[in-house]
Amino acid sequence: MRVCGNTDMAFRDQSRGQTRVTEVSQTFHRSSDPYLHAVECVTGSPEETEALAARLAGQLRAGDVVAVSGELGAGKTTFVRGAARALGVREPVSSPTFTIGHRYDAPVPVAHLDLYRLAGIDPEEWGDLEPYFDGTVAFVEWPEHGGEWLPDARATVTLNHVDESHRQVKIDSEDDLGL
Ligand code: ADP
Ligand code: MG
Repeated sequence: MRVCGNTDMAFRDQSRGQTRVTEVSQTFHRSSDPYLHAVECVTGSPEETEALAARLAGQLRAGDVVAVSGELGAGKTTFVRGAARALGVREPVSSPTFTIGHRYDAPVPVAHLDLYRLAGIDPEEWGDLEPYFDGTVAFVEWPEHGGEWLPDARATVTLNHVDESHRQVKIDSEDDLGL
């Protein structure tokens, strides 16, 4: 399966103001912010979203935080599942909506937080959250609810509904993640 390779997929790479071609059928535009690397594509199935996440996962290291935004059903947990699998997580990866987070064993441990139910973070709540970021690659759904407490994200993923089976996936980073 090719990610971002179908003709109905738009794939854009903005790289320090310069366009660069990485796949034949992609379309590109220049970044308005020359210091931000942004990749954007439309996936046609959950598996394609997982495969794109796996590509991002290959660039991640211990201590990295990935913010995953988008409305309910946009595919945030699907994206995290694909990344976690690629990082070596073998357990089922499900939404931690009814707990604040999961921590999975893997060569580099993986944390998966869902802050949907948080109205705001106070120091006590941060005390509960902080261990999830210790030595992990941490994925955070609803990062907006974490406010200023969250560590800076190495990458920000934004998912949007296109139709039943298509999602627009945008990945922003200050680093060139080579996606
Ligand atoms: P969220 O965590 O954002 O609420 P989930 O990942 O739990 O979303 O659910 C996304 C739903 O959308 C799943 O039922 C998934 O099968 C479906 N879906 C359909 N097309 C896609 C796609 N291209 N990418 C991701 N999920 C998709
Ligand atoms: Mg979710």
